[in-house]
Amino acid sequence: MGSLATVWDSEVAGMRGGLKMLPEDRKVLLLSDSQAAIAAVRKAGRTGRARTGELKEVVEEVRKKQKNLGPNAVRFGWVKAHVGTQGNEKADQMAKSEAELGDENEGMGKVITEGGLRQEWKRRRAEERKVNGTGIGRVVRWNRKARVNYVHCRTGKGNLQAWRHVLDADIPDQCRKCGRYAETGKHVALVCIHGEDIGRRWGTWEAMNEPERWRKKVKDPDGDYEVDLVETFFTDLDLR
Ligand SMILES: [Zn+2]
Repeated sequence: MGSLATVWDSEVAGMRGGLKMLPEDRKVLLLSDSQAAIAAVRKAGRTGRARTGELKEVVEEVRKKQKNLGPNAVRFGWVKAHVGTQGNEKADQMAKSEAELGDENEGMGKVITEGGLRQEWKRRRAEERKVNGTGIGRVVRWNRKARVNYVHCRTGKGNLQAWRHVLDADIPDQCRKCGRYAETGKHVALVCIHGEDIGRRWGTWEAMNEPERWRKKVKDPDGDYEVDLVETFFTDLDLR
């Protein structure tokens, strides 16, 4: 990571990119991890003075949106930088800022700046380590796709529709398989019809963590072998 000025610049650049990327008729929620950048944009908006070209562009974009869509056309949310080992901190923060915006948030395009995204990736990696460490012990032996899908379900993040919906209001949160409920990790891994064809019967994460129950012997002329039904389930799960 570069100097403070570089971090600040990249956040402002991210805001500019986000503002220009969204259609003109969309309100915007900008999530950034830099309070300095948010404060600078607000100040420049009040005083009409911007100290960099990019900041000036952001202020102009904000004004344009406010003129067309009203004073609340652009909102800022501060995403706290990830500290310590509590992986969920940042996601909770985001969910909270979403919830606080409530109904007024409806129809708003969401933009997470580079810094906000960096914190999100950090959180996600920490979460993956946590799950690999404390989740199903045998996960480490699974194939990569099964591991990734398991982590996504266990953390409620990744390519799950419910999580992508949090990041982008344009993406529906319904389950792509049954279409009836929100596609949360719990729904996909424990509730939805997804795994019925392989005889899925676990109803809790804990029940899933009983290898002896979910291991199946397969007869094979080249030598019998065992399959892990939980691994098979997560391997076949299509969350892309
Ligand atoms: Zn479903």
